[in-house]
Amino acid sequence: MRRLPEVIQPTTAISGSDARFPVRRIYCVGQNYAAHAREMGSDPDRKPPFFFTKPADAVVPSGSRLAYPSLTQDFQHEVELVLALGSGGERVAVADAAALIFGWGVGIDLTRRDLQAEAKKAGRPWDMAKGFDHSAPLAALTLGVPPRAGAIQLHVNGQMKQSGDLADMIWTVPEVIANLSTYVRLAPGDLIFTGTPSGVGPIRPGDTVQGRIDGADPIEVVFQSAS
Ligand code: MN
Repeated sequence: MRRLPEVIQPTTAISGSDARFPVRRIYCVGQNYAAHAREMGSDPDRKPPFFFTKPADAVVPSGSRLAYPSLTQDFQHEVELVLALGSGGERVAVADAAALIFGWGVGIDLTRRDLQAEAKKAGRPWDMAKGFDHSAPLAALTLGVPPRAGAIQLHVNGQMKQSGDLADMIWTVPEVIANLSTYVRLAPGDLIFTGTPSGVGPIRPGDTVQGRIDGADPIEVVFQSAS
């Protein structure tokens, strides 16, 4: 028989450990902070959360030097609290949801905003706007459940571009997990990007992008200059 290809299991770092967290799936919540929903032209009421996905191998670690993505003139940053699940379930009750969490960290939901806008307008999928290569930088995970409140910020070349508070999430962490688990069975290794505060904006070739949340390891990635 022909030799089978070797497929690499995507993993992400755990703060203070040499162990690696295996990534199964990446789910993302859209518009989970009122100020960001408004800047995207939506009404930030408590409509049920909506979800999209990225491929598991979109995760890249802090310290990465990344190629600037193709096919975009409006490449943007979204700093987000990311949950890492240590156990799963379906139709999980809100009261039981926190028990699924292995750890949490700071991620950046990289977005080809122009492709997303075209997809929205045409009623087409977001995959190529959101799920491209290296589109999910993620810092080392902190074990346990994330704080309910705390600063979440993003800087580009040292300038603050996004600043919010975890307390301003429209859907709380347990509510996000519970709602997502009505659509799919969640499982160990799943990551959930929980939405971004306002201030999303462009990344240009050569930019250094840093994200941070109080109490977690920061994420920093650099985008290569155009060659
Ligand atoms: Mn996002």
